Amino acid sequence: MTENPRVARSRYIGKIVAGPSLPAVVFFGGIHGNEPSGVIALERAFEKLARESLKGSVYGVIGNKWALDRKCRYDAEDLNRMWSHDRVAQLNDPNWKPNNHDEQEQIEIWAEVQKIIAFHTGPIYFIDLHTTSSETKPFVVLNDSLLNRSFAKQYPLPIILGIEEYLDGPLLSYINELGYVAFGFEAGSHDDPVSIDVHLAFIMCSLHFTGLMTEVGASFAEPFQLLVETGQGMDRFYEIFFRYKIKEEESFKMNPGYQNFQLVQKGEQLATSNEKPILADRKARVFMPLYQSQGSEGFFAIRPVNEFFLGLSAILRKWKVDTLLPILPGVKWHSNDRHALIVNKAVARFFAKQIFHLLGYRSRSVDQHQFILRNREAASKHTRYSEAKWLKP
Ligand SMILES: [Zn+2]
Repeated sequence: MTENPRVARSRYIGKIVAGPSLPAVVFFGGIHGNEPSGVIALERAFEKLARESLKGSVYGVIGNKWALDRKCRYDAEDLNRMWSHDRVAQLNDPNWKPNNHDEQEQIEIWAEVQKIIAFHTGPIYFIDLHTTSSETKPFVVLNDSLLNRSFAKQYPLPIILGIEEYLDGPLLSYINELGYVAFGFEAGSHDDPVSIDVHLAFIMCSLHFTGLMTEVGASFAEPFQLLVETGQGMDRFYEIFFRYKIKEEESFKMNPGYQNFQLVQKGEQLATSNEKPILADRKARVFMPLYQSQGSEGFFAIRPVNEFFLGLSAILRKWKVDTLLPILPGVKWHSNDRHALIVNKAVARFFAKQIFHLLGYRSRSVDQHQFILRNREAASKHTRYSEAKWLKP
């Protein structure tokens, strides 16, 4: 008798490996154990895929196996907040031992990611499949690099920029900083069976957009139409500008009934913290309200981004206008990282953060007085993707 049928299963939901110079698509499902939808959709996708007709490689990597088996989000810590540079360096140390099941999962996933990266010399796309605790329209969430943006624009879905300023250590942020196209996709709510259909449609569209599947028959038209329908009525781009971070020992409760992207008015009570009301300080859209017991982000606030701004930022980044930034008072290059700026907070308030975003920099607070802003473009492996159809003007 096996107590737990999934314990022995492979790290792969499926894999089809073609030549190293062809494109490769790596899907992750179930990085959060309470989100089985991506895993089920990948199982269904691999049943459909015919090796002969694919013009590249596909990997379906399973995320937190331990937590999936127990239908919980994680064991001791969130597997999607553990991918800082220090933590990944630790994984490469042969003497280091994991302290919990999440770290064990991380070691195994990292070993596979390294093998995939070492083998493939062509473009690699990393896509992380998730669901949310609230009701939501499906959306793409990504670090704001031009490669990520250009690729993700192919989906007829809302795209959320700027998550890297608010979350420490998502897997896909780490991989994006290695230079690859890498982003997350949220298909719907955890328990809605439609989330599986939307995940499957997203997987099939991704195989087309990456060039792995080229015939535009039913394998593309139907899934694409499903995504078009789910994305109706939404703006194309949004930017996160606020996060409500739950402190240790804080008792946080979101008011019931908020849907993702819901418009809220100034003064509206959104949640309670230690029995005290949390009010919206302006009109905005609430994003990823927390309706599950595990997690430390209460909710975010987002606003639509003007497409003119996005076009302008693409031009300024290509011209590398950012190299002029250290002329400004209170802005200097980081001494250990040539792609990062250190900015005095008083200055950052003066030159609105938007200017830095425009030029491709996203910030992390280091202390009371300073931000570190890291260039989103510096690492991008443009030449790897230079033959891709989606990059052609
Ligand atoms: Zn998730």
